[in-house]
Amino acid sequence: MLFEKIVFGPIKSRRLGTSLGVNLLPKGNKICTFNCIYCECGFNSINIKEAKYPTVEEVKFALESRLNEMQQNNEGLDTITFAGDGEPTMNPFFLEIIEETIRLRDFYFPLAKISVLSNATMLNNERVFEALKMVDNNILKLDSVNEETVKIINQPTNPNFSIEKTIDTLSKFNGKLTIQTLFFSGVFNGKHFDNTTEDEVSAWLSVLKRICPKSVQIYSLDRKTPAEGLQKASKEKLQEIGERVRTLGFETIVVE
Ligand code: SF4
Repeated sequence: MLFEKIVFGPIKSRRLGTSLGVNLLPKGNKICTFNCIYCECGFNSINIKEAKYPTVEEVKFALESRLNEMQQNNEGLDTITFAGDGEPTMNPFFLEIIEETIRLRDFYFPLAKISVLSNATMLNNERVFEALKMVDNNILKLDSVNEETVKIINQPTNPNFSIEKTIDTLSKFNGKLTIQTLFFSGVFNGKHFDNTTEDEVSAWLSVLKRICPKSVQIYSLDRKTPAEGLQKASKEKLQEIGERVRTLGFETIVVE
């Protein structure tokens, strides 16, 4: 499923309420610094170097038109959410777009939140880090803290990607972030993985203590995946992990 427009929705989200989506990726293509084997947008479709991203003006025009229309129609809005067909922080104008979005939100829907769903691979870019500090819901992916597991399930496109360095940077948000983790198991390219094992979960919990997020979101597979034969984590397993996170004192949402 790929988005044809920069602004889409609003849709009802269980986690975010009434959410107006913004897609900052090149139209009709999925592009990401990860290539997750469960990605509902499919595998990456174009070379990162060939990508042409929407500009600040294009995003501003599309977003303002929709917000204006929603305000005229007395529609409710809980959040403006940057998600879409890949990694939103790859857009080179991400910081300026967030600044513009804050201005538009303050004018049209001052009570709405701004949310970003990111895979946290661009945090070493200072402009991206600054932009994420400015949003209300900075939701960052951490599916595993094991380098080998990350390589199998998230398939970083940068061969030098390091989950350990990413975790260090996540700690620098001083708790102003939400960690999002998808639990599942399977075999991909002949390699077995399972991020619900005791080793995986206990290492992940230790890292949560280092990062101290304001909340944690846990979920499993929900839609068709590009890789075959992946196994959902059971509801019981998700609840059990959620309970362990709550015991550490973090607000936890388990999406079954
Ligand atoms: S990080 Fe998100 S958009 Fe990128 S491949 Fe993974 S699931 Fe898809």
